[in-house]
Amino acid sequence: MPPIPKKYLTAAAVVAALLLGWFAFAAWTDYARDGAEEVATYSDLVAAAERGDIASVTFRGDGAHAVTPDGQRLRAVVPVTDDLLKELRGRKIAIAFEEEAGGLVSGTVSVLEKLAPFLVIGLLIGALLLSGGQFLGGSRATRVRPRDTGTVFADVAGVDEAKDELRETVEFLRDPRRFAMAGARVPKGILLVGPPGTGKTMLAKAAAGEAGVPFFTVSGSDFVEMFVGLGAARVRSVFKTARAAAPCLLFIDEVDALAGKRGESNSHSEREQTLNQLLVEMDGIVNGGEVVVIAATNRAEMLDPAVTRPGRFDRHIHVALPDVAGREAILGVHTGRLHLAPDVCVRTVARGTPGFSGAELANLTNEAALSAARNGRVIVGMADFEAAKDRVLMGNERRSLALSNHERRLTAYHEAGHALVSIRCPEADPIHKATIIPRGRALGMVVRLPEGDRVSVSRAKLLADIAVAMAGRAAEDLVFGPDAVTTGAEADFRAATDLARRMVTAWGMSDAIGYVAHAGNDPAVVRSERTAWRIDEEVRRITDEGMERARRILAADRAALERITAALLERETLSGEEIGGLTEEERETEAA
Ligand code: ADP
Ligand code: ZN
Repeated sequence: MPPIPKKYLTAAAVVAALLLGWFAFAAWTDYARDGAEEVATYSDLVAAAERGDIASVTFRGDGAHAVTPDGQRLRAVVPVTDDLLKELRGRKIAIAFEEEAGGLVSGTVSVLEKLAPFLVIGLLIGALLLSGGQFLGGSRATRVRPRDTGTVFADVAGVDEAKDELRETVEFLRDPRRFAMAGARVPKGILLVGPPGTGKTMLAKAAAGEAGVPFFTVSGSDFVEMFVGLGAARVRSVFKTARAAAPCLLFIDEVDALAGKRGESNSHSEREQTLNQLLVEMDGIVNGGEVVVIAATNRAEMLDPAVTRPGRFDRHIHVALPDVAGREAILGVHTGRLHLAPDVCVRTVARGTPGFSGAELANLTNEAALSAARNGRVIVGMADFEAAKDRVLMGNERRSLALSNHERRLTAYHEAGHALVSIRCPEADPIHKATIIPRGRALGMVVRLPEGDRVSVSRAKLLADIAVAMAGRAAEDLVFGPDAVTTGAEADFRAATDLARRMVTAWGMSDAIGYVAHAGNDPAVVRSERTAWRIDEEVRRITDEGMERARRILAADRAALERITAALLERETLSGEEIGGLTEEERETEAA
């Protein structure tokens, strides 16, 4: 338990003192009213009445209060029966009934009893408002606990690039002063971007483990609150906890829940305040602040731009789904705990699980162990892994995992086509990597690096980009024939057509249409049918020419296409340099 903040203790003491004071006051007034009351029994009371020693009786909730002619007071608990009343009346004793229990003390108690639920709610709301949300926000901060992370980088496999990027952070946390003295600026906010289960949490934990500092973890969704100000208060208190433990590492999972783009509607003022508070806290960690914040998301593009500005989460590390070598390494880590039969080939398991994340591979390994256990064995065999794969596949019906050999080959040719044409068209964006690891609905992809923020783009580059987009289908067609081509090029065609249409209608890049802007959705601009037809023709001509160019390049370089395809099938992911190397080879052999 963290210590309760002083101000709550003070508030509680004030409330307690007020209550005590009230009860003392009430007791005193009760005493003043009733004086010293003698407690009597029912028989005493009746006997006194019979002696004529009673002048009046008042019935209240707590009994009969009698007054003698000389002012003495008696109290007795009595049944209010008709007989008793008749007896009293017969002796001319004044009778009164008081509705309430009377007396400030008992009165207060019974009123409090009735009002208790409202009082509790009122007190909570009051505390909330008075403290600007600190009350709950603060108490919830206990969720954030430093963990003794037993995790080190060796436990996280297949993400070597991410580990390399985090090494500097580890060095900084180990000895912050050294960096401060050197005047080095170490990123205090790091964003891990990647699909779920790829080991982002593990990486952050391992970084803390390697540095030997406390690890705080919290999820973005913990900050999503109903009441304005609550989320912000929680952010404040989480950072306060972290700062108090510096040097340390604070991990914010699912940061998009907390730092998503600010909405168009104004109805999200709670979210906005929470996000602003996060920005304030990030800015508050000045250089050498010794708190490193690592946030994870699988959708970096969903984040508010303010979050990724310099000085905040300005270092991005991509954690991708593992390729075949990565999967083998991850399986190595997880099968290390098992007794494997000699027939188990981890590499084969890795080959058979394209698209599996680290978490799914961990799950697969566990399922295999369970399968062995169910059959009364301690030794886990290859059949167990097969059974486990079926179970995992059934569990998350993933089309990509059932990828047939043919589909894989076709995807590899498709991506190799994009890659080769982009290398042969120097004006196009350079290629960063190509992969046939399925992701989402895409069976594979080629990632290209746009060179900086281009404001204007040349016609030559646009034509090259269109040819590159066409190259996927061109390769399918070239290798498998026109009847075997697939729907996989849909997005490519959309991108190419979009570019071509804008060249014609917006950028004045078509001789047939000229320098007229036809773009825009202004319904007032009525286009003649003839012009519309000519625009379509021009778009068609440009995309067709792109397709022709792609075909020519691929047909002329078939050997390079085969090499890239084979390498993709073997390694699943190729970097731009690797692809470049594969296309260079040919020139060398030609020269020789
Ligand atoms: P994320 O934070 O990216 O969703 P986690 O770090 O929570 O993923 O990973 C969940 C589990 O999956 C881990 O506890 C671990 O067992 C396994 N796992 C994921 N990635 C790896 C990896 N690269 N190496 C080893 N195990 C991994
Ligand atoms: Zn494509």
